[in-house]
Amino acid sequence: MAAACSAPDRALERRVARGRFAPSPTGPLHFGSLIAALGSFLEARRRGGEWLVRIEDVDAPRTALGAATAILRALERYGLHWDGPVLYQSQRTAHYQAALESLLDAGLAYPCTCTRRELASGPRGRDGAPIYPGTCRAGPRQPQRPHALRLRVTDAPLTFRDAIQGEYRQRLEREVGDFVLRRADGLFTYQLAVVVDDAAQGVTQVVRGADLLDSTPRQMVLQRLLGLPTPDYAHLPVAVDSRGDKLSKQTGAPPLDERNPGPALWAALRFLGQQPPPELAREPAPAIIAWAVAHWDLAAVAPDPAENFRMID
Ligand SMILES: [Zn+2]
Repeated sequence: MAAACSAPDRALERRVARGRFAPSPTGPLHFGSLIAALGSFLEARRRGGEWLVRIEDVDAPRTALGAATAILRALERYGLHWDGPVLYQSQRTAHYQAALESLLDAGLAYPCTCTRRELASGPRGRDGAPIYPGTCRAGPRQPQRPHALRLRVTDAPLTFRDAIQGEYRQRLEREVGDFVLRRADGLFTYQLAVVVDDAAQGVTQVVRGADLLDSTPRQMVLQRLLGLPTPDYAHLPVAVDSRGDKLSKQTGAPPLDERNPGPALWAALRFLGQQPPPELAREPAPAIIAWAVAHWDLAAVAPDPAENFRMID
């Protein structure tokens, strides 16, 4: 008998696509964050998969009161409905601590007492942050100070293929240095939290802004050391203003218009290289989203925003 046909196809089940959108609640949703929300949503839905939302409020002092609620409301108005409960990083510190302890037990992390000012004069990496020179590798320089915990990295070249940006290569030791997992003030860092949470949520594809491309090798190393799977990556072009700065709360990007989502959704689709018909911009959000799910093509997304168009503010 055809036993293979009647057996549950577990391999197929495991490969159900699961994407996510993980905003920091530092202010309302703007055009730049809509790009990441829409791109990750469409890639998941186009594959018949699930789309999760995670509020990255691990950095509590930067969190704006009510911002998470406002972001979730804006997503709903824009027709971006998520699956399952929203995960809040502020409620997950026990999981980050457990991951950190396993790295400490394996001798892979060490205390560092260097201050930001002490490191400021050294060379900087692609993300503009100082490359850590390994000062405290053999022991903290100022043991009386509160300490951060850093991951010990190597200089082995790390390569991965990004679905939009192509092959990306980084040598962590010389380009980033040992990076922080928990800060001296006790806060867990983005790099550790995102790895623990992507695995906990069973995320299979990470679609996010290209400003996070250079964080990916750090996250891949953590995945390997923690025995967690590595998802597929696609880094979307980042919307910039007329000065060439990334659209963000810090650069004063205006919040999305919640009463009339059409024009911003249409513009976001164009920015992502899709070809929505002009009249679609006047449709309600659900109609635009339905068109976008049916027509979404990740291969049409250009790696450089200039190849789509530049946002003007
Ligand atoms: Zn140090």
